[in-house]
Amino acid sequence: MRVHSLNCGTMASAGAGEPPAVCHCLLIETDADGLVLVDTGLGTVNLKDPAGSLGEDFLGWARPVLRSEETAVHQVEQLGFAASDVRHVVVTHLHRDHCGGLPDFPDASVHLHAAEHEAALPGEGIYLNAAYAHGPKWVTYAGLAGDEWMGFAGVRALDGLPPEILMVPLLGHTPGHVGVAVQSEDGWLLHAGDAYFHRNELHDAGEWPEGLDQLQARAETDRTQRLANRDRLREAVRRPDGPVVFSAHDPVEFAGRP
Ligand SMILES: [Zn+2]
Repeated sequence: MRVHSLNCGTMASAGAGEPPAVCHCLLIETDADGLVLVDTGLGTVNLKDPAGSLGEDFLGWARPVLRSEETAVHQVEQLGFAASDVRHVVVTHLHRDHCGGLPDFPDASVHLHAAEHEAALPGEGIYLNAAYAHGPKWVTYAGLAGDEWMGFAGVRALDGLPPEILMVPLLGHTPGHVGVAVQSEDGWLLHAGDAYFHRNELHDAGEWPEGLDQLQARAETDRTQRLANRDRLREAVRRPDGPVVFSAHDPVEFAGRP
């Protein structure tokens, strides 16, 4: 399957020397199930009403550029498709910078972990529901039932999608945070969402901006789970058959994608 990496939201740099952060989304061309979008980044609802849909706090620290050219729907159309060709969206979680594009694909089925659905639906606290007030066709997956895959437990295929797309529970950043594995023409990819923020977190050598640890600590809902899942990711990238792993916001990982 052909997999496109899209930046659906440039935001403030994570620290000195770091390029601006991205919202790394995947657009997958399946053989029989239309287009599948993994995360949506920021969408037209955010451009129309930045403060109402993202909150003044988020605008202050994330400083998203909010360009219509960066929305997933615009990029889907630039690739020669229609928005309605996107039949499925898989969201790693429902933080504002991951689901802002949902209203641009109102007919798509939106797959996510049940714990995330439950946490986010009231639209309170860190969750703002402007991106899902239209009532998406939610498809939820509860618990940790599933198979072992590359050292991860509870991995499963998704309803109506081919077995080359898998939901990989990476809980901890939020109650129902997941990664999404995709078997591309060049091998397995793993979109790890916000399970970590900086590429160096997966490698023995190298450091990362201190501010990112503080940002993670402010956001995380289960530190023990989050750090255990980051350890699994560190192990996965060392496997000879391991996936290419990237996170949602690291601009260098994004730049390395074809
Ligand atoms: Zn994020």
